[in-house]
Amino acid sequence: MTKCPICAMTFPKSDYDGLAKHIVQMKEKNDPFHSGWLRDYVPMDNYDVPDFVPKLKAFYNLTGTTLSDWMFKVFINKFYGVKPHPFVETMQRPKKSIFLGFGVEYYFFLKEKIRTLSYVIAKTDKEDVQKFEAKILLPELLNDGTSGKSRTTLLLKMCDSLGVNKDALVSSAPLPPTIHSIKLWNSIAETENWVEVMASINPLDILYSPAVKKKGAKLFFYGDSVMENEWIPETVKEFLAYLSDPANDYAEAGLKLLEQYAKEIDDVEGVQSTFVRSIDALDRHLIARVTRAKQYESKS
Ligand SMILES: [Zn+2]
Repeated sequence: MTKCPICAMTFPKSDYDGLAKHIVQMKEKNDPFHSGWLRDYVPMDNYDVPDFVPKLKAFYNLTGTTLSDWMFKVFINKFYGVKPHPFVETMQRPKKSIFLGFGVEYYFFLKEKIRTLSYVIAKTDKEDVQKFEAKILLPELLNDGTSGKSRTTLLLKMCDSLGVNKDALVSSAPLPPTIHSIKLWNSIAETENWVEVMASINPLDILYSPAVKKKGAKLFFYGDSVMENEWIPETVKEFLAYLSDPANDYAEAGLKLLEQYAKEIDDVEGVQSTFVRSIDALDRHLIARVTRAKQYESKS
């Protein structure tokens, strides 16, 4: 079964004609999400269905590549491409405010991640997948200082050192784009099969994966000079170092599992579309980090 990468409407397997017609129809109705998607992923001057179908097929085509490499490629194009994502750009020469914007919005993302990973574990009986997800999930869930480091513990320390303590953070609310994205991830977790639920969450860690460089990204999610900058607090460096430590990098391994099980349940196309829907949600969440940073800047 193939699926609209914007609204998840379903079509028979490999029915790219049907999918193309639907996306073009939605664009003609001036739907901003379908129109925006076309601009980002399949830019063309005119969206005549017969011309658009081969382009859409080419976007999804896996001939000569693997699902895992395709995901890396689509992700890198979107966030690390010719026009890097504003969050990635801001992190190249960061001000203090972006670390707060990052930390505060990401805190709420991580809370949703715990739920989404729990759904994967609950929905599958594959022990290798359950153990893999548990390894990622447990440190974030048990962030009480007894279970070693986690993204959440280091994030809380970082925000505290930058002037937002845990109470203030926990009692704040994420910005609307993050709320919107969290709702999407939660609804995917509730409604889709477990492999698609994985496809909505595990590949998002490509953002922090040191593997992006060997897969063709020219930038990393923070600038080369950040770790040498004396004004940047140690808590920030510790947080970034933990996120980008190959020892904590589960992105590639997650993609390999996804690839294996997407084939096994014969849902590669559904996985591709859910992945694309999810990285668009990540895009909005990352914009919220930048917006939040600007709010802190104007306050200081
Ligand atoms: Zn649609």
